[in-house]
Amino acid sequence: MRRLTHKWNNKRNIMSEGVYGEQPTGRVTHGLLRLSTAMRSQAWEWAEGVGLTPTQGEILVLLMQRKGPMRLGEIARETALTAATTSDAVSTLEGKGLVEKRRALDDGRALAVRLTARGRTAAKKALQWPDFLAKAVGTLKDDEQAAFYRTLLKTIHQLESQQQIPAHRMCLSCSHFQPSKNPKKTPHHCLLLQINMADTDLRLDCSVYEEADIAMQKKGWKVFAQVTCLATSRGR
Ligand code: SF4
Repeated sequence: MRRLTHKWNNKRNIMSEGVYGEQPTGRVTHGLLRLSTAMRSQAWEWAEGVGLTPTQGEILVLLMQRKGPMRLGEIARETALTAATTSDAVSTLEGKGLVEKRRALDDGRALAVRLTARGRTAAKKALQWPDFLAKAVGTLKDDEQAAFYRTLLKTIHQLESQQQIPAHRMCLSCSHFQPSKNPKKTPHHCLLLQINMADTDLRLDCSVYEEADIAMQKKGWKVFAQVTCLATSRGR
């Protein structure tokens, strides 16, 4: 009887491995969730060490990336937080002397948030917590990193289309972007900055981004998606 129970438990353990399904979609989802668990744990470990929360750290990094004041509504949109959570986090950061609120230059009734000198120092430190992930990605070959990044860009684009994450100021939806039909031979090109770009140079948050019209975005994504499919099948 004991042996039967043991067998049954083993069988149940083996079956529970595929809790997200046995198809590639389920495996990839499971893998991403494991990464998200590691990221959450590392983010909390870092944040607790400096007396912040991961959300507060994220807001500091966002303000540093944007290099200027941001309104509360913009911060909420970019971080996909509610207005109330954003307001609470910013008030806490203000209380710690890491950000300050000022009247927005273009609208005296609105408030804009900006980093203080101490906030900039804290933001630079906050940039370091994902280092553990960068080290792991750094062990992949160049081709693997490029394929990974292309796949991530496509997944991000899909989530943006479903309005599940905020839109990014990324090359692939920018009016200055010229996608290559064969990035291994001819790089992509930015008409504004006059630079050539390999897949891994494509930006996710560009300060001089200008949104392309929908037809142009669709065309750019179509070319990029076809190239991704070709690169993936060649890699098999
Ligand atoms: S302006 Fe920025 S986002 Fe647009 S294509 Fe050039 S580098 Fe990419």
